[in-house]
Amino acid sequence: MPAFDLRFVYDMLPSRVVFGVGCLDKLSEEIERLGASRALVLSTPDQSDQGRKIADRLGARAVGLFDKAVMHVPIKIAEQAREQAKALGADCCVAVGGGSTTGLAKAIALVSTLPILAIPTTYAGSEMTPIWGITEDGLKKTGRDPRVLPRTVLYDPTLTVTMPPMLSATSGMNSIAHCVEALYSKDANPIISMIAEEGIRALASGLSMVVKEPANLEARSNALYGAWLGGLSLGAVGMALHHKLCHTLGGTFNLPHAETHTVVLPHATAYTASAAPEAMSRVARALGAESAAQGLYNLAASLGAPTSLAALGLTAADLDKAADIAVQSPYYNPRPITRDGIRALLQDAFDGRRPSQ
Ligand code: NAD
Repeated sequence: MPAFDLRFVYDMLPSRVVFGVGCLDKLSEEIERLGASRALVLSTPDQSDQGRKIADRLGARAVGLFDKAVMHVPIKIAEQAREQAKALGADCCVAVGGGSTTGLAKAIALVSTLPILAIPTTYAGSEMTPIWGITEDGLKKTGRDPRVLPRTVLYDPTLTVTMPPMLSATSGMNSIAHCVEALYSKDANPIISMIAEEGIRALASGLSMVVKEPANLEARSNALYGAWLGGLSLGAVGMALHHKLCHTLGGTFNLPHAETHTVVLPHATAYTASAAPEAMSRVARALGAESAAQGLYNLAASLGAPTSLAALGLTAADLDKAADIAVQSPYYNPRPITRDGIRALLQDAFDGRRPSQ
């Protein structure tokens, strides 16, 4: 039961979710429901075949495929996609893929108001958020805009079975990070906290099976259900230290997105633990662990995911610069941010040390 002095603000985001094995069969029906008939399908070059199959499935309702989505939405690619959408007279975007492809659809929606139908194939969760990001001159600008929130999301676990076990593990840990930070967000509310705790539980149990049996649809369904809840949490409430650190490490040192989240999460959690006991006990409970930080570290290790920043290519000489950048502008965290504290956290993450509590 929540405490008596209960105060919160909760903005519910309007999106339609269709979930389940085989729900891709509803694609044409869902496009029609949006009032659209000229879809531009988006994918990465790796998922071009999948994009083509989606366009074929849509038949006359598809006007083309743009298959050049890449990580962090470079402005040049966004402009090309916007031009193609305009030239083809598209009236909606269908994004099939992970956060990179959804991010490209958002870059189009930001300047055109075209509705997005997202078909996620990773656990990144971007499809449930009104957060966009575009990279220009090496800097990633991000913002929130209701226009970029996908109007419809089709979660078909069948499409995730091709996700390699390692991408599954790290992408899933990325989603768990959304849930963990939602639990101690400055905007935390009881509904999102229930959603976030359930997300951690579903992801942890789903991922443990997914890495052993990537084609197991029950495990894939659990993990994708958890990823939906992680995306909902990220879209609904503000994040804190962990996301800020990962943004710094990804942006300045070009570290891979999902892997960086996986390595940093146990250490950011250990740093914040003493200031957010209720959130920590919910994380630990969802993981079936004694301690939130150790439980997260053990989960990542048991999935065979990377546990040190050194393994991701960061060098010891980068740690001071990373700590400086991470404390440059103030932001919310339950435990206040200090330069020394962040430097020590980064050292632990660099070494891949198991959190001590
Ligand atoms: P990604 O979309 O870059 O995908 C990684 C690679 O895996 C790509 O080559 C992709 O084609 C491939 N892939 C995806 N699904 C696959 C599948 N089922 N089978 C085989 N290969 C598959 O990676 P991601 O982790 O999903 O997304 C990361 C990006 O999303 C980052 O740029 C991050 O900043 C952004 N993101 C944004 C938000 C938001 O709310 N705006 C939220 C989370 C992540």
